[in-house]
Amino acid sequence: MEEVRAVTLEDLLNGKVKLHVLDDLVGAREATILRREYLEHQLGVDLSPLGADLPFEKIVGRNCENTIGSVTIPVGIAGPLPVEGEYFKGNTYVPLATTEGALVATVNRGSSAIRASGAVKVKLLDDKMTRAPSLETPGIEWSLRLVKWIDENFTLLRESFRSATAHGDLRAIRPFVAGKYVFLRLEATTGDAMGMNMVTRAAERVVEEIVSRLEWVRHVSLSGNLCTDKKPAAVNWIAGRGKTVSAEAVIKREVVESVLKTTPEAVMKVVAAKLYLGSALAGVLGGFNAHVANVIAAVFLATGQDLAQVVESSMSITYADVTSGGDLYFSLTVPSLEVGTVGGGTWLPAQRAALSIMGVAGPGDPPGTNAKKFAEVLTAAAMAGELSLVSALSAHHLAKAHERLGRGRRQ
Ligand code: NAP
Repeated sequence: MEEVRAVTLEDLLNGKVKLHVLDDLVGAREATILRREYLEHQLGVDLSPLGADLPFEKIVGRNCENTIGSVTIPVGIAGPLPVEGEYFKGNTYVPLATTEGALVATVNRGSSAIRASGAVKVKLLDDKMTRAPSLETPGIEWSLRLVKWIDENFTLLRESFRSATAHGDLRAIRPFVAGKYVFLRLEATTGDAMGMNMVTRAAERVVEEIVSRLEWVRHVSLSGNLCTDKKPAAVNWIAGRGKTVSAEAVIKREVVESVLKTTPEAVMKVVAAKLYLGSALAGVLGGFNAHVANVIAAVFLATGQDLAQVVESSMSITYADVTSGGDLYFSLTVPSLEVGTVGGGTWLPAQRAALSIMGVAGPGDPPGTNAKKFAEVLTAAAMAGELSLVSALSAHHLAKAHERLGRGRRQ
């Protein structure tokens, strides 16, 4: 066995050993504790609440660098939520990690109203992760030549893509031309992975194939921002990214009145005035909803998703009207929901346990099924949250509910 070199706090304080090399010298767990002791000494604060009971040996080099511990976030469950998807069918509880009082309660209340009326029907409309490298040609004529070449050689480029991954498959390449620049939005299925590492790796092979065959093409950047990852963008809102999902339910009038304490007409009015008129006046991009980001962020946090992707994953449009029978029709459409049940932080013990609550931990059979089920459940949960909050607003109950469930309480 290789000898483990002992490093002391003194070695860190006198600069003999750098913080970021500690893992190699003493192992990731010991390095985590030493780094924290160093910070405590330097800052004069107690950092022991950051704990050290995670498998840091597996985390370092995969999920995080320079580890000093972990933060724990309360997790609540909402449900049971009845979901009638193409992939997920049945009742499920939904884990939400949050410090916002009233959030779990609101998703829970929406779930109750849905349960009393039937189920959320959910359809997966599209499924593709994207990466858009930017390439440079000698000029616009050449850019158009490149676009034509890509169209003619799609099969070759698809093979290059597939040489990098067993679970990913290139579906299409959408070119965008701006003078001598060409951006190629690669669209790929990614099985149960959210797919960003996978598609980035495979996109590199595609670019290598192109530049090796066309000497007048220059590779500028593997990500050209037309992907678009972790930034609000119309391209995701319109063309989709990750899973594009739509959910709907009809809530009986008596349920709207007894559970949600409002009327279908009042809900419809708030949707029109707040979610459309107010959002239009504010100039929002994909923000025609009440608080979808709340549910997406809380479930992302509980299940090890990439949190920065809440930006595009929460873009969505909520809709409501009154049926001919006087009931409430309610729907939510989410064009770029980026989720995975393998990869990223989904393997971490607590996050995996949270995924298992919905029966979607790890790879699906066939591959991709678990991620699709998860996307359906998450959209249904976000819709439950929308239904409850819009109802509370229409009944002027919002402030009271937050008051009762913790907001505004002193520490
Ligand atoms: P990943 O952590 O790279 O792992 C996914 C890998 O799992 C796949 O490449 C696949 O191997 C394997 N796999 C095994 N069973 C699978 C199944 N049933 N379905 C799909 N894949 C399966 O995950 P990722 O989703 O590609 O990337 C997510 C990570 O990327 C997150 O940590 C995120 O923070 C980070 N990220 C990266 C970038 C970037 O530009 N690189 C950008 C944003 C976020 P094969 O490929 O061999 O099939």
